[in-house]
Amino acid sequence: IPVDNFDLVIFGGTGDLARRKILPGLFRRFISGQMPEEARIIGAARSDMSVDDYRVMIRDAVHEFDPASAKHKDCLERFLGQLGYVAVDAMGEGGWKELHAEMRENTVRAFYFSVAPSLFGAIAERLKSFGLADDQSRIVVEKPFGKDLETAKKLNRSLSEHFDESQIYRIDHYLGKETVQNLMAVRFGNMLFEPLWNSQYVDHIQITVAETVGVGGRGSYYDTSGAMRDMVQNHLMQLLCLIAMEPPAKFDPDAVRDEKLKVIRALDPVEPHHIVRGQYAASEKTPSYRADVENARSFTESFIAMRCQISNWRWAGTPFYLRTGKRMKARTSEIAVVFKDAPHSIFGPEAGYHRNVLSIRLQPNEGMTLGVTIKEPGPGGMRLVDVPLDMTFAEALGPDAEEVPDAYERLIMDVIRGNQTLFMRGDEVEAAWRWTDPIIEGWQRRNDVPKEYDTGSTGPDDALMLMHRDGRRWREIK
Ligand code: NAD
Repeated sequence: IPVDNFDLVIFGGTGDLARRKILPGLFRRFISGQMPEEARIIGAARSDMSVDDYRVMIRDAVHEFDPASAKHKDCLERFLGQLGYVAVDAMGEGGWKELHAEMRENTVRAFYFSVAPSLFGAIAERLKSFGLADDQSRIVVEKPFGKDLETAKKLNRSLSEHFDESQIYRIDHYLGKETVQNLMAVRFGNMLFEPLWNSQYVDHIQITVAETVGVGGRGSYYDTSGAMRDMVQNHLMQLLCLIAMEPPAKFDPDAVRDEKLKVIRALDPVEPHHIVRGQYAASEKTPSYRADVENARSFTESFIAMRCQISNWRWAGTPFYLRTGKRMKARTSEIAVVFKDAPHSIFGPEAGYHRNVLSIRLQPNEGMTLGVTIKEPGPGGMRLVDVPLDMTFAEALGPDAEEVPDAYERLIMDVIRGNQTLFMRGDEVEAAWRWTDPIIEGWQRRNDVPKEYDTGSTGPDDALMLMHRDGRRWREIK
């Protein structure tokens, strides 16, 4: 279903994120027919370049980052025809009048801040003072949303001076993933799971986001951030909220976000011995973390594993284990709900028992698998085996199903539709920092040194111990 006609201005339209994700994503929505032919996308950035040069830049970007879509040659030319470009100085006066002249009446106006957060306030202010934005306009802001509670509050204040909360879309692209939304469909669209979704039946929950890449070219940023700020405070926390929240009364933005906020507020402070921090070591082919960030004395973590507890009626006694890191064994994102053992073994101990595990995979192969215990086929008596009830979406929905859209594509279309459900609200972000700040401050106070781990491993051994101590084990990263 096509969205309404729109003018989308991308501040930072020449940047890495715009070229790699935002514009190729919009092009895919164009191919699918969801982006109207009359919609306009206007790149706004510091570089002085003509519209034609900008179109060449974006054509190259689509070829580089989405070669499959680039094959739709005619379509791509029509899409490029809808692009505009204006050189704008976010901190000054230059370009704003020209940008204003590009905007049309009676279309949805959205402004994507794909720039450093230090520019958010200045852009928000100028959008209003130059008359580009009105009460219906939307602004989209990228992570990182602050580096602690104080900076997040400051950012929130600088945006809310000019825009109402209902106009602010804080992106967490994890929320745009199809599986994450399916998690809500599975929980709240079926009778089967929700009655078991509590500490009476769930032994524990594991959330793993493992990457194989190192910090790459982002070293100077990453070294001031670390895995806690870069991954846990936002992405892992959002996943945890969706897994743990109470059923909202309606699938509407505030109902969902109210429930997520309650989860964050119910998180206990984390004891230092329930956290393991790591830094990747050099391998034969790749440099160490410290070499990557060019800081021989860096104490920043590229890996974190932690045990969290949600103090509420539903989850008291069920730990949530979170783990994320770079240069790990495989690129995997998974949420695993590990159910308790059956209360009594009628087949005797030698039959072999298996716990039910619901695995929700964000990558690779988005989908869900429920491990179910059945009888091993054959005449060997009552031996039990664990078989996966597999719901890999691409297979389950068949070859005619529409291709699963990338997270960015879907979220940008939600902005145009005016649907904030999958975006973080200001108070959620602040509550998340309120929980993470004391943890980070504790490390700084104690001069905590991260443990080294091998590239291509599952993190430091201490992370294994974190689970073993509780008589549990991490799921395999594969
Ligand atoms: P980038 O450095 O590649 O691009 C920055 C853009 O901002 C350029 O287009 C530049 O012209 C523009 N810009 C800088 N100063 C300006 C000014 N004074 N006036 C107008 N334009 C100005 O950055 P990026 O990697 O595209 O990241 C953009 C934002 O998205 C950042 O906040 C980043 O943290 C966030 N982000 C990026 C990624 C990613 O994969 N690149 C992922 C998540 C979040």
